[in-house]
This record gives sequence, C-alpha cells and structure tokens, in this order.
Amino acid sequence: MPSEAALRPVSLATPALVRDIVRAWREAGQSVGLVPTMGALHAGHLSLVARASEQNDRVVVSIFVNPLQFGPNEDFTRYPRDPAGDVAKLAAAGVDAIYMPAVERMYAPDSTTRVEVGGLGEVLEGAHRPGHFQGVATVVAKLFNAVQPDRAYFGQKDAQQAAVIRRLARDLDFPVEIVVCPTVREPDGLALSSRNAYLSGVERNAAVALSRALKSAAAAWSAGERDPAQLKAALHQVLDAEPLARVDYAEVVDPADFVTPGPLAVVAARIGATRLIDNHDLRNPFPV
Ligand code: AMP
Repeated sequence: MPSEAALRPVSLATPALVRDIVRAWREAGQSVGLVPTMGALHAGHLSLVARASEQNDRVVVSIFVNPLQFGPNEDFTRYPRDPAGDVAKLAAAGVDAIYMPAVERMYAPDSTTRVEVGGLGEVLEGAHRPGHFQGVATVVAKLFNAVQPDRAYFGQKDAQQAAVIRRLARDLDFPVEIVVCPTVREPDGLALSSRNAYLSGVERNAAVALSRALKSAAAAWSAGERDPAQLKAALHQVLDAEPLARVDYAEVVDPADFVTPGPLAVVAARIGATRLIDNHDLRNPFPV
C-alpha cells in the first residue's frame, strides 16, 4: 500500500470535498493552514507554504484565478496558468491538499452575493481597480468557509490586500488567524510576481525602478526625513526617471488606513503593458 506521503497532495475540486477532508483532520485534532493563490507559483508563494507548514499539521493551497477580482479591461484571460507545474511544486513542498475549483464550481451561474469591505478597499489599489477588493473579499470569504482554516497566509507584497482581509476576518467573525509573510525579491530587488512573466527583457530591467524607489525612500527615512511630501518626492524621483514606467500612484501612508500619511511606501506603475505593485515599511532597512 502506498504511504500517505506518496498520495499527497490530494487534488480537490469542490467546496464540499475540501470541507469533508478538513473535517476529518480537525476531528483527529490537527490544525489546518490555508494558502490562497492564483497559481503560476513562484518562490514568494512557496515562502507562504513553508510558513504554513511550520505552523500547522495540515496545509491546503488553493489555486483559483478569480474572475471577480479582475476589471473588464484587465488580464483575466491571459493571466499566467501552469496547473501541472504548480502541482509538482506543491507536491515537492509536501502540502496535503490542493483546492483547485473550476470557475463554475466556485460561482453558481446566478451567484449575486458579494462582500464589500468599504473604506480600506476603496483607496489606492481599490480606486485604481474598481471592484477589485470586492472580488478578493468575496472569494476569500468563500475559501474561509470551504476550508475553515485555523490560519491563513498572505504576502506583504500585496499589503493593502492583506489589510482588507484582516478587516474582513474581523468584521465577519471568521475564526481564522491572518498571517502576513515578508515579500520575496529577486537579487536586484524586484518583488516576485506571477505578472513578471509578461515583461520583455528591457521591461524586466525597467521594472526594478519600483523597488529602487522604495529603497531610496527608505534611505531618506533612515537619514531622518519624515516629511511625507519629501518621502513621496524620493519615490517619484526614481520612478519618473524610468522612461518605461507610468506611475499609477506613489504614496507614503499609514498601514492602518492607507490614507493618512505614514511610514508605508506603496507604489503602482505600468511597465509597458504590465501593471506592477510593491511596498515597503520605511521604518525597516530595505532588504536588498
Ligand atoms: P497571487 O497568486 O498573486 O494572488 O498571490 C497569492 C499570495 O502570495 C498573496 O497573498 C500574495 O501577497 C503572495 N505573494 C505574491 N508575491 C509574493 C512575494 N513576492 N513575496 C511574498 N508573498 C507573495
């Protein structure tokens, strides 16, 4: 008989199947960590999986490119997809289950219920991508209901998303601990992202402007600069000097509300046709 490890990870396609398997684990007294992803997995995703494996008896990774969180002119249809590669990476990482529902299993054709987080979800990313955080909050609420994890893992790379999900869990009484893990970067500073696959060679070189802008603002902060206008100018100085970058926003905000000026530098820019985001808490030295 094959060992249990040889059978892992189990692939699950419906909320009912994932609920049943998690119930069995829970009845055996085991804790469960959930890592929600849209697939095309890279080392950033795998760092969340590693943290979840350290902290839980069982780990479920969801892979679902969620149509609700893409705007009508965004990249839903061409978003990178690599299910076979993802399964191989997750098997190597030793996860217990992969929840990979089809869109029509996730949303009934006449589904209309949506989760609206409000304020925090309406500024910055929310303002530039109307409906985005409603789509994120709706799918994450569904994932929390299907999996009922003890802990769920998100990346600081998407800082505003992590804040929206903390708010969602608190406001709707989901009994889940939200764990936010540090951003994994390339050696030159570029934050890993599935969308980096869209970049041409020259665009890839230009994309480092986002992290260089954050590094420059962090240097200004550590030299004593606290004026939000000056910190913002430090971000713009680097971004505006990159001819291939078109800036959506570059701000320094309070991580509690993403509006009040504060120590979290957040940037969004298009490099050619590819929209990238990044952020850094200026109170910490930039890591690369
Ligand atoms: P995505 O598949 O892009 O929806 O990302 C799934 C999760 O991985 C989200 O919680 C992201 O914040 C996280 N993530 C994406 N890129 C990184 C990265 N470079 N470092 C750490 N976490 C990341």
